Amino acid sequence: MTSQTTANTPTPDQIHRAPKVLLHDHLDGGLRPATIVELAHATGYSQLPETDPEKLGVWFREAADSGSLERYLETFSHTVGVMQTRDALVRVAAECAEDLAEDGVVYAEVRYAPEQHLEGGLSLEEVVEAVNEGFREGERRARERGLRIRVGALLTAMRHAARALEIAELANRYRDLGVVGFDIAGAEAGYPPTRHLDAFEYLKRENNHFTIHAGEAFGLPSIWQALQWCGADRLGHGVRIIDDIQVHEDGSVELGRLASYVRDKRIPLELCPSSNLQTGAAASYAEHPIGLLRRLHFRATVNTDNRLMSHTSMSREFEHLVEAFGYTLDDMQWFSVNAMKSAFIPFDERLAMINDVIKPGYAELKSEWLFRQTASTSGFVTPEG
Ligand SMILES: [Zn+2]
Repeated sequence: MTSQTTANTPTPDQIHRAPKVLLHDHLDGGLRPATIVELAHATGYSQLPETDPEKLGVWFREAADSGSLERYLETFSHTVGVMQTRDALVRVAAECAEDLAEDGVVYAEVRYAPEQHLEGGLSLEEVVEAVNEGFREGERRARERGLRIRVGALLTAMRHAARALEIAELANRYRDLGVVGFDIAGAEAGYPPTRHLDAFEYLKRENNHFTIHAGEAFGLPSIWQALQWCGADRLGHGVRIIDDIQVHEDGSVELGRLASYVRDKRIPLELCPSSNLQTGAAASYAEHPIGLLRRLHFRATVNTDNRLMSHTSMSREFEHLVEAFGYTLDDMQWFSVNAMKSAFIPFDERLAMINDVIKPGYAELKSEWLFRQTASTSGFVTPEG
């Protein structure tokens, strides 16, 4: 009963305490409902569908779940709508860092599109500086509560717009000042990443890092372009790589050229299970490609995408995966180390995070069963106390 295997299946409390690494999280997709209500009031934003925080939270979830792209996009018009002032951006970023730390995340890269926060008269630079200030404030508040988190920003350009090069230059200007990389996001169909080649070529010339939203709704051509034309370091989602993997009836697996390339080159996949379920990329957690991709040793990572719209957190994502695939603390550690290896901060810092924070954290959790057993056999404490 207390075999290593069962003992290694994490409890919800252990999942929560386990050091987790998050690479794909949108700042405008993770606001607290109460904050949205307060910011709407403070900034004179009058478009909210609900003004009661609890009802608003439900509205966001239902709109994102509705299967209607219009309603899904409407959710972001409200969060972005209340993030048009310096104070609002500082607050949202600080709460983001705080919430992630509270969830046991030790390292996060959080992305946002500066061009979407200019309606109140801020400049691109003021937006970046406000968000950076917020992240530092959130890290500080977490530290006061005995929690440790480091947050890096990714600057996103919208793929339907034409400001990618400008945003890439902005990301480059603020590297080493809180911004760790670049991304493009928005509707995949009709807006191939090659539209923004100048931005990617610029970043490569500057030896900078970027990820590209690809292979979420749209399939293999999008992934292929992101990697082979644009030179992406990571794939935002990349879940459709599954279309290039054949599982035969006898259980044997065949990888196409692109899937082989992705695995051979250890291209990180920023997988977001709950978000994929909402957009219909997978029917259930058990059927989500992450199970196969983990088995085949792709560089798979677990991410939240939009915590508010998907009503999720890193702990919730792992709870679903533990339930669907029977993952152990070793699997959780594997995903977390994968993510840390794939982060955009310098190699020595990634290594220190893996060896000094992540591995000791999991070792501690994995050893807890030993003490539980000793306590129960000694008769002083009942199991699970
Ligand atoms: Zn995303």
